[in-house]
Formats: sequence, C-alpha cells, structure tokens
Amino acid sequence: MDELTTKAFVLRTRNYGESDRIVVLLTEELGKVSAIAKGARRSHRRFAGGALEPFGELNVRMAPKSYGSLAFLHESRVLSSNIKVGADLDAYAWASYLTELTELMTVEHDPSRDLYDFYRDVIARLGTGPAEPVAHHYVLGLLDRSGWAPDLDACGICAEPVTEFSRPMLDSRGSGVVCSRHEAEALGLDPDDANFRPSRRIIDDTLLSYLRRAATDIPDPAELAVSDLATALLERLVDLHLGRNLRSRAFLKGLRMERRRAEQPKELP
Ligand SMILES: [Zn+2]
Repeated sequence: MDELTTKAFVLRTRNYGESDRIVVLLTEELGKVSAIAKGARRSHRRFAGGALEPFGELNVRMAPKSYGSLAFLHESRVLSSNIKVGADLDAYAWASYLTELTELMTVEHDPSRDLYDFYRDVIARLGTGPAEPVAHHYVLGLLDRSGWAPDLDACGICAEPVTEFSRPMLDSRGSGVVCSRHEAEALGLDPDDANFRPSRRIIDDTLLSYLRRAATDIPDPAELAVSDLATALLERLVDLHLGRNLRSRAFLKGLRMERRRAEQPKELP
C-alpha cells in the first residue's frame, strides 16, 4: 500500500531492539494501527520532540502494513502538544487511563472518525477544569461506541423504566441497571423484607441522574462522594466487558486517595 499522511495520537509505545520503537496509534484515517518507527530513538529529525509521546496530536507519515504485520512509521510531527495534560497530575492520570482504555476497547483496521474526534476533544478538555466529569463522559461514550452502552433508563430484566423506587443496581451481566427486587425474588424473599440485602450497592437518584447526564454530555461536576461512586461504577462496567485490569488504574486510584485525604478535615490534637 502507498504512503499515507494522517493525524494520530499515540496510545502505547515500547522500545524495540537497539533503536526502534513500536507504537500503537489511533489515527484519523485508519483507526488503530500498530507501527514500527525504525531508528526512532536516534532520529531527532523524523521524530522531533514529543512526536512519539502520548496525549499530543501528531501528523504521521506511514506505509500501512509494509513491515510484516506492522505498519512502517516514517515520520511524526507534533501538531498540538496538549501541555495542559502534562501540567496537571489529575488530568495526566485520567488521560493515561482513558488512553489505555481506548487501546483495549478498539480493534485494528476499524476506522472511526467519530471516535478519533471524540478522543481528541476529550484529551484537549483535560487540564482545563475538573477531570472526572470529562473522564466519565468519555468512558460512557467509549462503551457506547463499542456496542456496550449501559441502559440507565430501563431495567435489564423487567424493562420497566428505572426510578429511585426501583432501587436500581448495576446489572452483573453488563446491560446497565436492574431493579433490586429481582434479586430478592430469585432468593424467594420479599424485597421489602429487612433481611434482604442486595448484593450490590443501590444506585441512588443523584448518582443515576449524574450518569445519565454523563452519557450524553460532559456533566457539571458532582459532589466528591457521587463522583467517586460514578468512577467505581464505571470501572465495574469496564471490568465486566474487558475482564482484565488496567495498569493505569492503580496510579489513578493512588492519586484519588491522596486527594481525598488532603480534603478531610484535620483532626484536633
Ligand atoms: Zn426490573
């Protein structure tokens, strides 16, 4: 195939051999592409500062599939470095997580201009305000584009509209939410019985409304507790579909705990 020039973001990169690098790119034209950048660690002419780093939008010149199963990356130039992501630890941690998630939830040779634009817009927003609402919106959008959008409006079992009276909880099959009474019924218990303890946390109205907003747009920031619950719930959803752990999640979690500790009222001596 002939050479091609396209805009791209680096999703993942690793050194290969003495001087090469293998990069996984999200490209505007071809979707996800794995490519080898020969001599990348020596050539500062073809791969100038930051041209093989994540979070910056690049212009790449490549020959798709000319090197075994890998594309051949000839040259990369930084178009927009998105320095705000690098200047804000919270934005950086979320950008790392969303980038890893994008890599895991996409397949090669499946071009999607829509996903490219979505990723580009979200990365550009990180570092300009609270990161979590942006990240939650992206995770839900990515699930949707992968065919895994959770249904937050109707119960996954009885298909009735979900309200706070349904005492909804996450469907362990990943469909979205289900009324908790179905679990009680399956156990032969009265859902109103005080002895009935649902196996998963009940999603209250505040959290449900926040998630519904996040599914369509970047929501206004929620209270810390609601935001943390949304993060946990979306992680659970991602896990249901991916069935594997994300490397960047530990970093994100450590940072979040650090921040929560700093925001706790100081105890008197
Ligand atoms: Zn139901």
